[in-house]
Amino acid sequence: NGSYPNESETGQTVVIGSSGFIGRFITEACLDSGRPTYILVRSSSNSPSKASTIKFLQDKGAIVIHGSITDQEFMEKVLREYKIEVVISAVGGESILDQFSLIEAIKNVNTVKVYLCSNIYACRFVPSEFGHDIDRAEPVEPGLTMYEQKRKIRREIEECGIPYSYICCNSIAAWPYHDNTHPADVLPPLDRFQIYGDSTVKAYFVAGSDIGKFTVMSIDDDRTLNKTVHFQPPSNLLNMNEMASLWETKIGRVLPRVTITEQELLQRAQEMRIPQSVVAAITHDIFINGCQINFSLDKTTDVEVCSLYPNTSFRTIAECFDDFAKKISDNEKAVSKPVTASNTDIFVPTAKPEAL
Ligand code: NDP
Repeated sequence: NGSYPNESETGQTVVIGSSGFIGRFITEACLDSGRPTYILVRSSSNSPSKASTIKFLQDKGAIVIHGSITDQEFMEKVLREYKIEVVISAVGGESILDQFSLIEAIKNVNTVKVYLCSNIYACRFVPSEFGHDIDRAEPVEPGLTMYEQKRKIRREIEECGIPYSYICCNSIAAWPYHDNTHPADVLPPLDRFQIYGDSTVKAYFVAGSDIGKFTVMSIDDDRTLNKTVHFQPPSNLLNMNEMASLWETKIGRVLPRVTITEQELLQRAQEMRIPQSVVAAITHDIFINGCQINFSLDKTTDVEVCSLYPNTSFRTIAECFDDFAKKISDNEKAVSKPVTASNTDIFVPTAKPEAL
């Protein structure tokens, strides 16, 4: 209604895609930061693992709203009734264009807005990006189609004058399998490393919890208003040989290294298997083209999280790899126990990435 909300009403946040890979990290960080957090859950979402993620988030304090962002009228009602001021979308690659109706709802309701008075507080839309700067990077198809969709969403947000932050967090800290959209859900290799190209090209590997933490810090910060927020922690910049050597120190043995050439990556992309070929195209852009490191932050719209928050550290890759190594040892302990009704369904580690 255009009136200024009082302070106790600020910060109401809705996260879309909480049951997903990136959305869960974002939602956990929202809850950890103490902000009132609503999560939009589709009623069609009925997989047991997603249900347990939602239950976990509810137990931490998330309030579930059932619905889809494609229902614009419903979204307008949600934004209005819950006085939502921050909308974070982590919908998956296949749902990027679903955000058009969400943008329309945000524009119509106008709860997500900036009050340029003495008491500026963060009101924001964070669209689903969580990767590279899609206005700079130019992967081959079918990665390019997804980037073009994300670009269309950016242009619509800007056209509508909705306050935003674009989160460019680079790669998630995990082994960068070229055919797995969620590499942090599986262990790094235990049989052999597949190394892309000559292995000299570096990438930023950021822990999922840090993607969540710094995203939430940045939405509360007027320095990131209408900015592209880059995650470039120098300590997390590694090439594939460095990643492989680090993992070898954790598992206590050396694994063979097999080269996957540029041509092979391009061929995987050209197969047009979705989503595997999208990952192959982006893997090519990272480890052959160097898309995370081949530009300078020279636009007035660029900000970088280490400069914004110099006193907040990132988890290192070594720490993330310790977590994976602990999973292996926990699973080994579990499988060496006598089989009982309570431990028959324990996950046994495998070197193969899970099916997408
Ligand atoms: P997932 O596929 O894991 O999850 C998508 C989530 O969005 C699910 O919770 C899904 O709900 C929900 N969703 C989809 N459509 C709608 C809708 N219409 N209304 C409400 N909810 C909806 O996504 P990812 O985590 O893989 O991807 C999120 C973003 O992160 C993408 O932009 C992707 O490109 C990026 N990404 C970045 C990575 C990196 O390493 N930097 C790695 C992976 C992704 P439901 O449960 O109902 O399906």
